[in-house]
Amino acid sequence: MLSYDLVIIGGGPAGLTAALYAGRSRLNTLLIEKMSVGGRILMSETIENYPGFPGGVSTVELMGRMENQAKELGVSIISEEVLSLDCANKIINTANNNYQAQSVIIASGARPRRLNIPGEGQLTGRGVSYCATCDAPFFKDKKVVIVGGGNAVAEEAMYLSRFASSISVIHRRSDLRASPILQERMQQNNKISFILNSVVTQVKGVNKVEAVIIKDLLSGKESDFACAGVFIYIGYEPETLFLKNKLKMDESGFILTDENMATTSEGIFACGDCRKKALYQVINACGDGAVAADSAYKFIANKEK
Ligand code: NAP
Repeated sequence: MLSYDLVIIGGGPAGLTAALYAGRSRLNTLLIEKMSVGGRILMSETIENYPGFPGGVSTVELMGRMENQAKELGVSIISEEVLSLDCANKIINTANNNYQAQSVIIASGARPRRLNIPGEGQLTGRGVSYCATCDAPFFKDKKVVIVGGGNAVAEEAMYLSRFASSISVIHRRSDLRASPILQERMQQNNKISFILNSVVTQVKGVNKVEAVIIKDLLSGKESDFACAGVFIYIGYEPETLFLKNKLKMDESGFILTDENMATTSEGIFACGDCRKKALYQVINACGDGAVAADSAYKFIANKEK
């Protein structure tokens, strides 16, 4: 079994920042990422609120820089899916390997929440999408709907407007949750319109999306709305199923930590979007990662005394 001082699970902003700090502490560190390094932020084209980049920065560029910085410090980065973690013995199991560590940082992030309505599963990849940045070009001059009312909807509706002929934002309340600056931009975009106090109850289509059924929550009436694409942005669920019953979590599966990112299992730390906190942004995912790596370093140093 390969042994490391520190194993980091997840290669988004939190995991990569933890890797940077661990590398600078000269910990022998392995970062395991199941998809592409960079994480969920790569589903957005640019990030506008990361300090130091007036006008925004490409997410591919920013995350590529974080990856290179960690690698320059000797952190090993591999692509495997972690299937389970033995917290007491700090053994990390993937499909092909087992790794032993002195300390573990969980930075497994979150995945898009599903609506769980008829048609959604069958038509995913055939008009139903959770990533406008990935799929918007397929909807050139087509009518699409986007579900939700948060910052992600605002940013992705604006991105979609470069391609689609019209974007209807379907939101379950009368007020959007998105920050005021993003709401102003949506209002100014003449391709974007709003269907408020409404939910999508079904996605219709044979081999591709042809329409959605929209329910007006005030009148209770349902009606068909023809469209070629359904983009769903209703928040995220933590990627913590592989840790079920091993660490204390809230009812949604977000890991509970203290201010040092310590979980309820000694020597296991959690950072970024997989943990319960007030604000889910790249900037504080990075902050979490730095704290987690510092805590892991201190935990290992104390053990060696
Ligand atoms: P979010 O802020 O949690 O918003 C989710 C939206 O989906 C809410 O408007 C919510 O409605 C709605 N919703 C939830 N469940 C629903 C359901 N079952 N049916 C219909 N609508 C449902 O999620 P997000 O916009 O994806 O953003 C996630 C996090 O990333 C947030 O912390 C956000 O601030 C952050 N983010 C930040 C930026 C940025 O700062 N530039 C960009 C993107 C994302 P209600 O409003 O009624 O609850």
